[in-house]
Amino acid sequence: MSHLNNHKEYKEISAIYDYVSMCTHCGNCKYGYEWGAATNFADMLCVQGSKYNFDSYRGSRGKVSLARSLLHGRIGWDDTVAHILFTCTECGACQQMCETDIKPYILRMFEALRSEAWKQNIAVPANIKAWSSTIGNNYNPYKEKHEKRLDWLPPEFKSKVNKKAEYIYFAGCTASYRRKEIARATVKLLDKLKVDWTVVDDEWCCASPVLRTGQYDLAKAFVEHNAALPDKYKAGAFITTCSGCFRTLSRDYKMDPPEGYTDKYGKLLQNTKVLHTTHLLEEMLNKGEIEFTGKFNKKVTYHDPCHLGRHAEVYETPRNVLKAIPGINLVEMYKNRKFSFCCGAGGGVRGGFADYSLETAYKRVKEAESTGAELLTSACPFCYTNLHDAIEMNKSPLKMEDIVEILEPIVKRK
Ligand code: SF4
Ligand code: SF4
Repeated sequence: MSHLNNHKEYKEISAIYDYVSMCTHCGNCKYGYEWGAATNFADMLCVQGSKYNFDSYRGSRGKVSLARSLLHGRIGWDDTVAHILFTCTECGACQQMCETDIKPYILRMFEALRSEAWKQNIAVPANIKAWSSTIGNNYNPYKEKHEKRLDWLPPEFKSKVNKKAEYIYFAGCTASYRRKEIARATVKLLDKLKVDWTVVDDEWCCASPVLRTGQYDLAKAFVEHNAALPDKYKAGAFITTCSGCFRTLSRDYKMDPPEGYTDKYGKLLQNTKVLHTTHLLEEMLNKGEIEFTGKFNKKVTYHDPCHLGRHAEVYETPRNVLKAIPGINLVEMYKNRKFSFCCGAGGGVRGGFADYSLETAYKRVKEAESTGAELLTSACPFCYTNLHDAIEMNKSPLKMEDIVEILEPIVKRK
């Protein structure tokens, strides 16, 4: 890499430069695209591109050019570069569309560019800087006190805290502090289904917001702390209702690069299963262990959370759970599964650029409205927050519920 002017300074990008250079500039990543007589599909999936429209903002191609130009010293770090880097939600649509060898490294490249941006004197969004400066004390990005992390837990479940159990329910920061109803519905559901679970008062942020915004050094303490919890509580598995926690615990903690960070930390949780709640529900349904005690006679559409869908390729599991509910009429949005459109919250965007984030969420809400569904569901408290806020702000007739909120009132263990 001696041909690169700045490779010593730009360590993170240099480390993946051989992969960055595999981009052929074909432009596939600028659109959602599938060729075939029955499945011919072409539409804008890039959240950034749909808002800002300039090539650097649209898909991964422009950011590959950016990385090359920065490394070769052809452009400098300035506030425009920061804006391009931090308005990407890391939805992964461009990565899904790419068909060359750079494909597995695209999201990692975005994060590597962000990690370099932190070292430059440029406009990293103030709000991201603000939560990043306190997360080391509070262990959550919401600037809430760590001691209040379990305040959501209903009194009847206080005896479940810090117990030896098969599953640690890893509630995550959003459900713990902002969407407590989803955390409550999850533990009520687990209890009704006679799952052996605990929650722990020393759960810290999974580090998703830290990693996705390129703060590798800051993430280290969080990753190592949470990875020690299963041994401490003699648990065999983490279960998460948050798709961001699921992606981070199941991929970033465990995997080799490019998916993971074993050059910094990783190969953790090797003996610990990480399940999304919908995985457990699907497994129990398949074994005939769940009995429905009521119907859900509603027309429903499902939003794929990017961290569960494109990042972890879990598309059918939540749909299989929904389809098992008596009375439900599940309809698909035009953009679904790997062609889904992001809720607009990820990659630090909700914190960094709230107006743009909510504008994106409303685009998704309108797609849901166009199906004729009365209820929008998803499998992530963070998606819930952004989509629900957009529904309220725009007075959409849609209602929103997480999958666990739909299931909880109408199931019991057989
Ligand atoms: S990132 Fe992939 S899809 Fe996009 S231009 Fe490069 S090779 Fe093509
Ligand atoms: S990750 Fe999503 S928002 Fe970011 S460039 Fe790719 S398609 Fe656009």
